[in-house]
Amino acid sequence: MNSSITHLTTSSPEYNSVSANFKSQFQHSTSPKIHSVLKINMSNQFMNRFENFKKQRKNCSKLQLYHGTKYSCNIKDLKSTEMLCSHFRCGVCGIIKNGPKLTMANSNGNGRFIWFAPFPHVSHGYTGTNSAPGQVYTTSKFAAIFMMDVIDATPFQSCYIVGNEEAILPKYLVVYEI
Ligand SMILES: [Zn+2]
Repeated sequence: MNSSITHLTTSSPEYNSVSANFKSQFQHSTSPKIHSVLKINMSNQFMNRFENFKKQRKNCSKLQLYHGTKYSCNIKDLKSTEMLCSHFRCGVCGIIKNGPKLTMANSNGNGRFIWFAPFPHVSHGYTGTNSAPGQVYTTSKFAAIFMMDVIDATPFQSCYIVGNEEAILPKYLVVYEI
């Protein structure tokens, strides 16, 4: 089964815990306004790969970290799996479908790593639109940050870096404006 998303209603306990954490950890002069919280259900194959990795590294810590990325579609109205786009520049839809990819990641001078932050306001700097020339999106005031489970992440400056795609499980996508 392919990965899918579930749009959480504001009355669900999951919505409330994710949005409360996000807002309390977002240290900024203005508080982010949460637009939506999507639960990510990665494919069975992806889940199995993560669970196997977790078993192999059972003495390693599991952290819940943030990952900001850019988007190329209408994330404001994103509610169902059918609405995911296939634009190669859309980090949001690409990560939901396939997880974060090292091939799309930035180097820190010592190779490519997928970057995470312990706080969403740090990830905010990596959000925004990634539209092709001539394309205009009406949702550009919105930003999207993933919450992911990460095993054995390495602290680097004020962030964390991960060099293994198997160590990462996307859990939620928070769409917000600030
Ligand atoms: Zn997209």
